[in-house]
Amino acid sequence: MQAKNAFSILKLGLISLVAASLMACGPEKQTASSGEAATQQTYKWKMVTSWPKNFPGLGTAPERFSKMVDEMSAGRLKVKVYGAGELVPALQVFDAVSQGTAEMGHSGAYYWKGKTAAAQFFTSVPFGLTAQEMNGWIYHGGGLQLWQELYAPFNLIPLAAGNTGVQMAGWFNKEINSVDDLKGLKMRIPGLGGEVLKRAGGTPVTLPGGELFTSLQTGAIDATEWVGPYNDLAFGLYKAAKHYYYPGWHEPGSMMELTVNKPAFESLPKDLQAIVTTAAKAINADMLAEYTARNNAALTELVEKHGVDVRELPADVLTKLRELSDQVVAEVAAQDPAAQKVYDSYIKYRDGVVKYHAISEQSFINAR
Ligand code: CA
Repeated sequence: MQAKNAFSILKLGLISLVAASLMACGPEKQTASSGEAATQQTYKWKMVTSWPKNFPGLGTAPERFSKMVDEMSAGRLKVKVYGAGELVPALQVFDAVSQGTAEMGHSGAYYWKGKTAAAQFFTSVPFGLTAQEMNGWIYHGGGLQLWQELYAPFNLIPLAAGNTGVQMAGWFNKEINSVDDLKGLKMRIPGLGGEVLKRAGGTPVTLPGGELFTSLQTGAIDATEWVGPYNDLAFGLYKAAKHYYYPGWHEPGSMMELTVNKPAFESLPKDLQAIVTTAAKAINADMLAEYTARNNAALTELVEKHGVDVRELPADVLTKLRELSDQVVAEVAAQDPAAQKVYDSYIKYRDGVVKYHAISEQSFINAR
């Protein structure tokens, strides 16, 4: 009995030893397998947008982003894109992503001026930066950091995600021959440009793209800006207004934004986070390339096929709008500390880049 007990004790001891060594291996093995599981985990995200589904440029960029992310992640991150109104209305993208209804959104920051005035600096500023200059400020001039600080209280991470280049001044049902013609003008023009129009005596309204044609055709508005020939042709705006004015003083290089719900982004493994930020950079460049390649053909079609009257805004109108823009932008900044901080960075950068571009881009384009 004693021998048997001794053997039992030895056997128990051995079992304990084996169990202990298994437990010792356990955590390491478990870490390895859960690490592997984390990287193999599939994420299914929703992206809401402010554009009609697959709308040229604005709406195709989110689709390209989705495809790129799917390929780069080998299917581990799937992003389903929703057009305006499919999941949430066009101008509720910010709230939807902030609240986590969707993990991502594609829109324009200036639509959110009611949330935070400084957001307007991250789409376009009247008489401000061109697309090329904007990218310099965002990626290498401190702009992105300021933008991410600005959106942090809303649970959002913003990323640059497309640029239209210089837009057109818009479609008008009355001629603009002098500053007086802006008085009483009811025009769809969002963001800071709208504030400038108000200062010039007009009535700015903000409407999503999908409502422009009807509003213009029914006379609910006298004029609308949208983007440029490529997009304006797609909306058929030439059927609703007589005159097409340039240049887009109010939006010299409008940047689109990709917003990411912060907890959702932070739940991704590092490599998927890098895929999201890299794919955003890719569509940021690609959208500008698409507009650059397509705008001229669209303008030719508007003029030659549809007989559109293309006009430059008179020089004195542009001069007046520039003066008002400087005042309005400085005043918007002065009313809000966050906007002042962004404004200071933006203006310092703009002054520097304008100085250099006078002897580079501008000099070259004049000489070409
Ligand atoms: Ca516009």
